[in-house]
Amino acid sequence: PVVLGIESTCDETAAAVVRGQTLVSNVVASSMNEHARYGGVIPEIASRAHAQAFVPVVSKALADANMDLSQVDAIAVSAGPGLAGCLAVGVSGAKALAWAANKPLYGINHVIGHIAVTQLQFGAFPADTLALIVSGGHTSLLHVQDVARHVDVVGTTLDDAAGECFDKIARILGFPYPGGPHIDRHAQAGDPHAIHVPQGLTQGKAGAQHPYDFSFSGVKTAVARWVEGLEAQGQPVPVDDVCASLADSVASVLTNKAMAACELYGSQTLIVGGGFTANSQLRAKLEQGGQEHGIEVRIPERALCTDNGAMVAMLGVNLVAAGVRPSALDFSIDSAMPLSQILM
Ligand code: ATP
Ligand code: MG
Ligand code: FE
Repeated sequence: PVVLGIESTCDETAAAVVRGQTLVSNVVASSMNEHARYGGVIPEIASRAHAQAFVPVVSKALADANMDLSQVDAIAVSAGPGLAGCLAVGVSGAKALAWAANKPLYGINHVIGHIAVTQLQFGAFPADTLALIVSGGHTSLLHVQDVARHVDVVGTTLDDAAGECFDKIARILGFPYPGGPHIDRHAQAGDPHAIHVPQGLTQGKAGAQHPYDFSFSGVKTAVARWVEGLEAQGQPVPVDDVCASLADSVASVLTNKAMAACELYGSQTLIVGGGFTANSQLRAKLEQGGQEHGIEVRIPERALCTDNGAMVAMLGVNLVAAGVRPSALDFSIDSAMPLSQILM
């Protein structure tokens, strides 16, 4: 099947056409620069940017694919989770297109899209597999029985997402939003063992109670206190070492728990997705962990990790191919759509 995918959960307005497991076109417009000086995404600014970009982005995705709407089999759009005003723009636009062209519409879960997109690079999923999602809003381990029909949450963060933790520390270090890539860059030049950064929920009672859950708020507080302590004493902050030690701690706990979960579920494959998986240290640790544990780790190229329309279109293809019934045209957005729900 051929599916047009539309994405507007946060600050990317994106559209893509996927045929089978082939990416035919992929257009991403971002309002990221408009938020940089506020230190985070401003929902009203992002929503307005979506309203401006929607028609040009969708038109370009179709034009790049040499297609018009009559030639797609279905339209898929992120229905959640995300910022309500942003979701409303993409979903309303997608509904209008589906209604006008008389095409089935799938209101999909954006986070499951981050998993589905790996198929464009690595092909179909194994029947039963584990997935690690690490993004701006989520840090979870999922058991994917069938990406079109059934996913379960194995573990999740009890507080902040990994990306959120990086973005907050980046702010303290004075980097513009989003700070994750800046921390990544500085970490390359630092010593990952220079500073002790705690690993949330790995030791003692908490670790035993939550073998596959994550916690990053303690990491954030520990690093923030340490940096602020140095600043209060008028001492220079070893920025590169802070970034390297932070990244090492976060990447280690994510990798160790993902590997342990694969062993519990007997999964030979780990699917990896979400914007944070663009992170160099995490990619390296996952590759290394996979080699040590005999697990095939599927990490997509960086452009497919961050938000895009291809992930939405790919999940749409899975739903069409599985014969799943499309969403009713009056479905609503769900800014807190649960991870176990694939479709509205
Ligand atoms: P969700 O998918 O949970 O709704 P989101 O769509 O906002 O959240 P993504 O776009 O998937 O999130 O990911 C954005 C996050 O990824 C930001 O927190 C950003 O700092 C982080 N990020 C991007 N590149 C890197 C990198 N190289 N290293 C660390 N973090 C990164
Ligand atoms: Mg974004
Ligand atoms: Fe995302």
